[in-house]
Amino acid sequence: AIDFKWIRDNRDAVADNIRSKNSAANLDLVLELYDQYLALQKEVERLRAERNAVANKMKGKQDPSVRQALVEEGKNLKEALIGLEEDLVELTDKLQLEAQSIPNATHPDVPVGGEESSVVRKEVGSQRSFNFTIKDHLQLGKELDLFDFDAAAEVSGSKFYYLKNEAVLLEMALINWAISEVSKKGFTPLITPEIVRSSVVEKCGFQPRAQNTQDYLFTLQVSVPYFLFLRKDTFEVIVLVVVYSIENSDQCLIGTAEIPVGGIHMDSILLDSALPLKYVAYSHCFRTEAGAAGAATRGLYRVHQFSKVEMFIFCRPEESDKWHEELITIEEDLYASLGLHFKTLDMATGDLGAPAYRKFDIEAWMPGLERYGEISSASNCTDYQSRRLGIRYRPTPSEPPPANAKKGKAAGGPTQFVHTLNATAVAVPRLIVCILENFQQDDGSIVIPEPLRPFMGGLEVLSPKS
Ligand code: AMP
Repeated sequence: AIDFKWIRDNRDAVADNIRSKNSAANLDLVLELYDQYLALQKEVERLRAERNAVANKMKGKQDPSVRQALVEEGKNLKEALIGLEEDLVELTDKLQLEAQSIPNATHPDVPVGGEESSVVRKEVGSQRSFNFTIKDHLQLGKELDLFDFDAAAEVSGSKFYYLKNEAVLLEMALINWAISEVSKKGFTPLITPEIVRSSVVEKCGFQPRAQNTQDYLFTLQVSVPYFLFLRKDTFEVIVLVVVYSIENSDQCLIGTAEIPVGGIHMDSILLDSALPLKYVAYSHCFRTEAGAAGAATRGLYRVHQFSKVEMFIFCRPEESDKWHEELITIEEDLYASLGLHFKTLDMATGDLGAPAYRKFDIEAWMPGLERYGEISSASNCTDYQSRRLGIRYRPTPSEPPPANAKKGKAAGGPTQFVHTLNATAVAVPRLIVCILENFQQDDGSIVIPEPLRPFMGGLEVLSPKS
């Protein structure tokens, strides 16, 4: 249910938005296909009306010769219609596919520009100063026997890992703590499927096509998990999320629980009284991370498989800004209670990706890696995903219906698309990096943040094995 008429009527604004979001969407092509679609649809309707008129004429008594002519005409119309209806289906598919890359509109307050234009909206804590030589999480993990990257490289490939010993408890504690804290705020806990249909991935605004990176000359990460690809054959630039697809099927592994949670109410009309619907979902995430290179790929920072607890809200359109603020507050409270030093950023247009209308990222200080690293991201996707997923609600009218109102209409007027929002509660590996690197002591031990201790059997400190 992409609103093509709106796109056509607001052509300049849509083009500006495509430019400021660094999107590779081809608006001219979409509008050209839309014009073709309208013309073809009109022609199909004209032929249908003609065919009906012929059928009506045949109902009366006629001369056999007239009748024969009508039969002939009806047959010709039917054949012409079959061909045009097939063309219409094909053209509709092409239009939908092309239009999927048109990004969501952008909140007027979002800073325009690339990543460097993002604005800090909050800062919590400060960089801890150490009076001893600090280690990064890889070194600490080695001394504490928490990971095995070597065996994982043999068994699975690079950027996989085994968690061992207390790291296992730490991952589970982070998950249980996050689910427990967020569900206290009225979010329904979920564990999601981790294999989904590619069509659902697409409807959430990610593009699962063309995983085959050999087809591309170069890839450039614009924001996780979006990449710009330059095709070798056509030199066409396209934006993709890089997901693992499953051979001989139309399914893929999820890159985030946002996809199965977004799909949970696909093709339905939600009750106004049930909104907002708030979920907190635990899943593994799988990302090919094609094109992602650089210093920040060390250790657990950027891996192919990780656990994440994700928040997701379906709400009334007029409330999505408010819920966006609520989500970022939940994230900030979670990380502040762990004792992390972090900054919240209002992400610039070039870093939003297609579905987000506005996005707040949190970057935490990782002393061993000597940088701030993104630990979470909260996006308001407005009606971008709900239009594609077909998720509506019927607003309750502010005034009672008139006594003579027709049944059905009296139930509450026309339906509208809900707004969707998603936000990370806990992306486990990056929090493990933060905890190890920020809370290391001079004897090589790690102090466990207080809120996690009850979820680790009361464990307060991880000490190096002697
Ligand atoms: P996203 O769904 O892309 O907004 O990612 C949510 C969070 O997951 C990010 O803020 C990171 O903390 C974390 N994350 C994303 N990609 C990876 C990865 N490849 N390895 C580890 N953590 C990741």
